[in-house]
Amino acid sequence: MTGGADGRPCIFCRLLASGEARWVAREPDAVAFAPKPDSELAPGHTLVVPLVHCVGVLDAPPDALAATTALVQRVGVAMTTALGATGVVVLNASGPHSGQSVAHLHFHVVPCRPEDGVTLWPQARSGFRFPSDAPDPHEALARELAGP
Ligand SMILES: [Zn+2]
Repeated sequence: MTGGADGRPCIFCRLLASGEARWVAREPDAVAFAPKPDSELAPGHTLVVPLVHCVGVLDAPPDALAATTALVQRVGVAMTTALGATGVVVLNASGPHSGQSVAHLHFHVVPCRPEDGVTLWPQARSGFRFPSDAPDPHEALARELAGP
């Protein structure tokens, strides 16, 4: 348990240690719980986090990430069967300048219904532009992923 910028465990690690949450699921490597009521984007909105501390998808141990995303799927399916959701929005922000609010990997799973009256998918577009002489970003990614 680590991760707080102030040297204290991060707030999700403290929550996991305290056991004080509105639990939706508790599994060996990942858990799901309700957010604070004033931050619920929709009835049934659920957070899914790994038990091991990591900041986000960029530094998560692959096993922890796999366990967490598998639970994201189970929570999402349960939203369709238990809550009547027709779909889900899964949100994650990882790392500086991403909008991440708590520096412990977490996925928001939000049930969606026809009567929501809102689109939870981001509507804004980045203002960043590569210089016109820069390589195509997808080609740069493909080269990076292909390795040396
Ligand atoms: Zn943590």
